Amino acid sequence: MNNNDNWRMETVAIHAGKEIDPTTGAVMPPLHLSTTFERKADGSYHNGFTYIRGDNPTRRALEDALCALEGGVCAATFASGMAAIMTVFQALRPGDHVLIPDDIYFGTRVMIDKLFTPWGLTSHAVDMTDLDAVRAAMRPNTRMLWIETPSNPLLKITDIAATAAIAHEAGAILACDSTWPSPALQQTLAQGADLAVHATTKYLGGHSDLLGGAVIARQDSEFFDLIRTIQQAGGAVPSPFDCWLLLRGIRTLPYRMRGHCENAQRVADYLSGHPKIERVHYPGLISHPGHIIAARQMSGYGGMLSIQLHKDSLHTGEQNARRMANRTALFVQATSLGGVESLIEHRASIEGAVTNAPANLLRLSVGLEHPDDLIADLEQALADEVALER
Ligand SMILES: *Cc1c(COP(=O)(O)O)cnc(C)c1O
Repeated sequence: MNNNDNWRMETVAIHAGKEIDPTTGAVMPPLHLSTTFERKADGSYHNGFTYIRGDNPTRRALEDALCALEGGVCAATFASGMAAIMTVFQALRPGDHVLIPDDIYFGTRVMIDKLFTPWGLTSHAVDMTDLDAVRAAMRPNTRMLWIETPSNPLLKITDIAATAAIAHEAGAILACDSTWPSPALQQTLAQGADLAVHATTKYLGGHSDLLGGAVIARQDSEFFDLIRTIQQAGGAVPSPFDCWLLLRGIRTLPYRMRGHCENAQRVADYLSGHPKIERVHYPGLISHPGHIIAARQMSGYGGMLSIQLHKDSLHTGEQNARRMANRTALFVQATSLGGVESLIEHRASIEGAVTNAPANLLRLSVGLEHPDDLIADLEQALADEVALER
């Protein structure tokens, strides 16, 4: 890749992992579906590729692109965000201790409880926005701090540089699930994290049509070697087609993120003034407790926000939340995030009995429709029932 250290994010996104195909002159990288690669008479291979699970040209182009976007030196991609996260935890050892956030992606918490605790990992959930609590939770065998910022679904903001300092002082690593901001809004590694982890399914893909995950490392290390070994030996790798789709999505990432941020800020401002809304969780609001840290460590506040609805004389807050989600027309009631289309979701009922999400909470993934249309949709969904039922 012809990368240039001075390029801005928009330029990197367009050119990362791309070179003119030497055999055809193709400007866009071809999609390589071959599972196997020819071995020459002397036993060597043409370009180091031997078998699709180990490596393949489309995946390598994607991994190069992700390194360039995140400012890392090596990247490993996976068949899903959860496969990427699982690999990081598998690279630890039974007996190790990890700190995880109290507000954490539901799937990560379930995976730690169901798979890694029985396997011998000890974990401790802590409010990562409270640095004294983080320091107090460290143990001699703490190997990793796992953070997620902004967090899911409460959009808590964790100070990356400060948690990295706590981790490093204790000889532990800092891994950050950076799915929500994407590399376009948060340069996680430059702020001290050792690993940036992504569900590429979300903003990096950007079109709700692929499943993928990635781990990008600030430095080469034995720990990353293990991640690479688990990727290649375990085989939870993305298909070439998904790699190709992801590369295609990445080209527009910085411009999409600008639109997501602009629209989400408009929606957050509108909802924070609405009498039926009890609380809006969006780091772009000055009232958000993490606003100042977010302003420092992010270049935009993202496309995700959560709201909590008031109860009234007829309905509980939960009933009002579920009714609102049932009444939007543009916002589709569905899980996931990061696509061009807007989504609305009642988290607690998706997560089930073990949820930590407040019952009156809705999570919004604000898409790239016109913000006036989005606001009009939310307005009619919150309008008084009486008026609607007439
Ligand atoms: C979606 C998501 C994941 C899981 O990714 P999958 O691709 O669905 O496996 C992990 N972390 C966060 C923050 C997510 O939003």
